Amino acid sequence: MSWIDPSFPHSATPSDLVGRVLGLNPGMMTGPGTNTYLVGRAHPILIDTGAGEADYPALFERYLRKRGWRRPERIILTHRHRDHLGGVVQLREIFPGVPVAKLILKDSGLPEDVDTLQDVEEIEGDGATLIPIHTPGHASDHLCFFLKEESALFSGDLILNGSTTVIPDEDGDLGQYMDSLKRVQALGVKRIYPAHGPVIEDGPGKIQEFIDHRMLRERQILETLGGGPRAIPEIVKIIYADVNTALHRMAAMSVHSHLRKLKQEGRVSEEPVTSGPSRWSLV
Ligand SMILES: [Zn+2]
Repeated sequence: MSWIDPSFPHSATPSDLVGRVLGLNPGMMTGPGTNTYLVGRAHPILIDTGAGEADYPALFERYLRKRGWRRPERIILTHRHRDHLGGVVQLREIFPGVPVAKLILKDSGLPEDVDTLQDVEEIEGDGATLIPIHTPGHASDHLCFFLKEESALFSGDLILNGSTTVIPDEDGDLGQYMDSLKRVQALGVKRIYPAHGPVIEDGPGKIQEFIDHRMLRERQILETLGGGPRAIPEIVKIIYADVNTALHRMAAMSVHSHLRKLKQEGRVSEEPVTSGPSRWSLV
């Protein structure tokens, strides 16, 4: 399976309660594109809206008609990134007055009239109950939604299928991200509906895989620093030796997220260098 899979279906009905419409925004960061999910029976709740691609509204309306639905009852968003809320304005043109909500936290430049959601405050849909789970790390405002009726998780960008999650220098926090993975691990999740990539049938397996992957990287970084102080580009060259150098910029961001976490934990220190990247050493 390739990450940007051109044959990934544009819409699907993975369960009685869940429909999926693709945001039609494929790319390195989004894989086949952002999944938007319609949840419930006759009056569905929409989770995420894609990036605002021109062809998305028509695809969305086609899928609604196919299901015999008129409109989404409300829209809820996993987080503020463009590829999740970019379609809000488009959808409001077609469905005037549709309420939109997200966890409002450190936000600026949101579309008008967005209501806030609270952690674990149940959202009652039509035959579907969604529980927002605050899961910062990829973004400070990030929510997953737990679907009670299926013990399933809409994981947003916390867990993807086909790639690892980016922890941006700005607003990302790997320590919080690990805590978020452990928080959803404790929910007893069966299936995962990720914002990018196909449905994950073995939810617990995938959550463990994501935790293990980060712990492996952390061990590799500590091992590398065991040989003496190093700058991020050197660490990347060693740990990601078998990875295409085109991805080394992303790898550098990932290594930086680990080093920031280890620094907070008092396990490494950072020595600024005037004409180059900081040097990092074990404490
Ligand atoms: Zn995101």
